Amino acid sequence: MMPPHMRFRRRSFLGLLFLFSLSTSALYFIYSAPGIVNEYLFMVQARGMRIRENMRNIGAQVLEQVVRSAYSINGTDYPYDFNLSETAAPPTPYLPEGFTYLPSDFCPEKLPGMKGRLQVNMSEIALEEVERDLRQADASLRLGGHWKPQDCIPRWKVAILVPFRNRHEHLPILFRHLIPVLQRQRLQFGFYVVEQAGDEPFNRAMLFNVGFKEAMKDLHWDCVIFHDVDHILENDRNYYGCSDMPRHFAVKLNKYSYMLPYDEFFGGVSGLTAEQFQKINGFPNAFWGWGGEDDDLWNRVQYAGYTVSRPSGDIGRYMSIPHHHRGEVQFLGRYTLLRHSKERQRLDGLNNLHYSPQVARRNLYTNISVALSRDMAPVVDY
Ligand code: BGC
Repeated sequence: MMPPHMRFRRRSFLGLLFLFSLSTSALYFIYSAPGIVNEYLFMVQARGMRIRENMRNIGAQVLEQVVRSAYSINGTDYPYDFNLSETAAPPTPYLPEGFTYLPSDFCPEKLPGMKGRLQVNMSEIALEEVERDLRQADASLRLGGHWKPQDCIPRWKVAILVPFRNRHEHLPILFRHLIPVLQRQRLQFGFYVVEQAGDEPFNRAMLFNVGFKEAMKDLHWDCVIFHDVDHILENDRNYYGCSDMPRHFAVKLNKYSYMLPYDEFFGGVSGLTAEQFQKINGFPNAFWGWGGEDDDLWNRVQYAGYTVSRPSGDIGRYMSIPHHHRGEVQFLGRYTLLRHSKERQRLDGLNNLHYSPQVARRNLYTNISVALSRDMAPVVDY
């Protein structure tokens, strides 16, 4: 039993927290649309006592909304058509157990083996152990993590690109979850880990551009998934094929209390057909440090006339592998750059990037190591 003075202290601490929460709500109210305020209040109520743990993330998101509205990033000038078709249309059912198809048929998208919720296991494991287990389960897994179904024709040839620096313990955790899922989904796939060498701040977007160009030299992939190494999917019905619209897969993240932080959020895991990605001129190269490149990709997609599709319900849930931040600096100039997404789209991306990679084929992935520097993607004045 807690002594009375401790209880008092605890209560005043909670009181302070409550006041802090009220004042951030008020600030938020001043700067944001009422809809967003409701969402925030709902978030505060729904999470109850867990608010202490989530305070930092929520605070960051509140600030995000404030800054986004201050920079008019929410009020973009493209026609806003947020694609909710998956939630509106009645979903097509999954095929029944024992459903058969021929090797000459296209693989169905909703196979009975895709059961839904996955058991996520975040414990660290050696890469060799994961390789051994995956090979034991299916001997047809090839060098570079290449695989294709033998019992039907895959609908998509999917390159999974993973930007990387100094997260060696995350890779086996990602493969342990993702490879069996992609096999159950009967997709043809290969993994490309794009590793940043050198001392410049991390440039996730430029790594994706390099990965795309290198992967396309290997095979004519028709679908490309841009995947953070620490994002583990929680549902095997989250189909990693592409569609006629760019797709955002990582809709509900545990680090954001399983809520979309803002409507234009396009981070974590997204996917475009090779054609769509070429049409938008890839990612911008100018985002050095953490943040903003995914927002710019969202803008590029909109300016090209696409709308983003997302999996419905809990299908798009992901867990982040817990880790200590390893000194990636926030890119504070991102909001200024984002205001010029449209002008920069044709000047900066796949078309102005020059690099010299070192490519090594490993059992579960192709490793592309590249030292990045600013002069590798010059941008003329706009
Ligand atoms: C950044 C994005 C990031 C998002 C959610 C934004 O401030 O610009 O890159 O995905 O926050 O964390």
